[in-house]
Amino acid sequence: MSLISEWLRERRITEVECVTPDFTGIARGKIVPREKFNEDEGMRLPQVVLVQTVTGEYAENITPATDPDMVLIPDPNTIRLVPWAKDPVAQVIHDCFHFDGTPVELSPRYVLRRVLKLYEDRGWEPVVAPEMEFYIVDINRDPDLPLQPPLGRTGRPETGRKAYSIDAVNEYDDLFEDVYDYCDAQGLQIDTLIHEVGACQMEINFLHGNALELADQIFLFKRTVREAAIRHQMYATFMAKPMENEPGSAMHIHMSVVDKTTGKNVFSNDDGLPSEVFYQSIAGMQKYFPAVISLFAPFVNSYRRLTRYYAAPINVQWGFDNRTCGIRVPHSTPAARRIENRVPGVDCNPYLALAATLACGYLGIVENLKPSEPLTGDAYSLPFAFERGLEGAITALADCKPISDVLGEKFIQAYCAVKQAEYVEYAKVISPWERKHLLLHV
Ligand code: GLU
Ligand code: MG
Ligand code: MG
Repeated sequence: MSLISEWLRERRITEVECVTPDFTGIARGKIVPREKFNEDEGMRLPQVVLVQTVTGEYAENITPATDPDMVLIPDPNTIRLVPWAKDPVAQVIHDCFHFDGTPVELSPRYVLRRVLKLYEDRGWEPVVAPEMEFYIVDINRDPDLPLQPPLGRTGRPETGRKAYSIDAVNEYDDLFEDVYDYCDAQGLQIDTLIHEVGACQMEINFLHGNALELADQIFLFKRTVREAAIRHQMYATFMAKPMENEPGSAMHIHMSVVDKTTGKNVFSNDDGLPSEVFYQSIAGMQKYFPAVISLFAPFVNSYRRLTRYYAAPINVQWGFDNRTCGIRVPHSTPAARRIENRVPGVDCNPYLALAATLACGYLGIVENLKPSEPLTGDAYSLPFAFERGLEGAITALADCKPISDVLGEKFIQAYCAVKQAEYVEYAKVISPWERKHLLLHV
């Protein structure tokens, strides 16, 4: 009997949630009774579900007009319990294949796998540690109503700007106990929890590890936190900028690269100084981040976060322990030397943001690039380096051949088409601002 089947039987699992991440990073798939779950044959799903826009549209000409299926095969390393389910329910993440056995290039998990392969071919393995910021807000079904922090345990309204306050986190103890329990039951390796700068903005960091495993963990974590919050009559939101007068929420990515034979961090030389690969990786990020910004900032809303101050980046300056820069090198020992990519919003698809970060670093190594001088001053006094909105960002991605070679041409074309379709939908909407300022005034 196969490993998964045995695992399911031992735990008397009744149902299996068979999932794969779509472009947005949302779980798509089927819930199947245990006896119907077939590890070897997998299951089928229309290809088109990977590329649906957030408004539920399908961009044209991405998948064949005949709407064909793909085959989803479970990754046995990803079998887990669904901790909040009443009956024992399992979940397992799947990879997507065509019927001839070739991988579906549009699958975000495949996009990340192909970048990891490039490192593997050099005998290396990237090590990453993401940091997740998010807001907790009152349940609010009215898109025009301002979001409010929920009342905490003591009933004291949370006024915000409580960076690192322990009391402010304790207000939501019951919620976080569930978050920790749920993460524990799924093997999601979360580390510290803090209150961030915004009102009821929290941050949970992950232990460092393999990039595919961490992408999977983040994928499941977002769902877990949303689920836990709703059980406490709250919303947890991973929007990049849910409130105009509060800071946005980031998904910083710390990365280093280890040599698989020696186990050593290739960002440091034997004498402890930063290696050439370290500088080349930074330079690759400086050169290519503007091209991949739509993978770090995938929605119209994401660009509202990338503004001066609020500790969000506006350009690709780099510096040692400099929080105004898009690329920060935290103080560390040579063994822990790493680069922190501060650009992604927490609304990004973790597979794609990790793939893009590693791809940019990789291109810097291949092209033997040199970074700028590290910035010692304030990066906010320097110009923007990113497109200021989704539309420009799509063009920047579509025009970048080296990135499309690394992430896959089919994927890049599809991603740009989906983002364009989302932009067109957004641009049709007449906003309250327009009515407020124009209705009787022009
Ligand atoms: N919330 C900030 C952002 O949107 C980051 C804050 C921090 O430095 O952790 O980028
Ligand atoms: Mg933070
Ligand atoms: Mg950080």
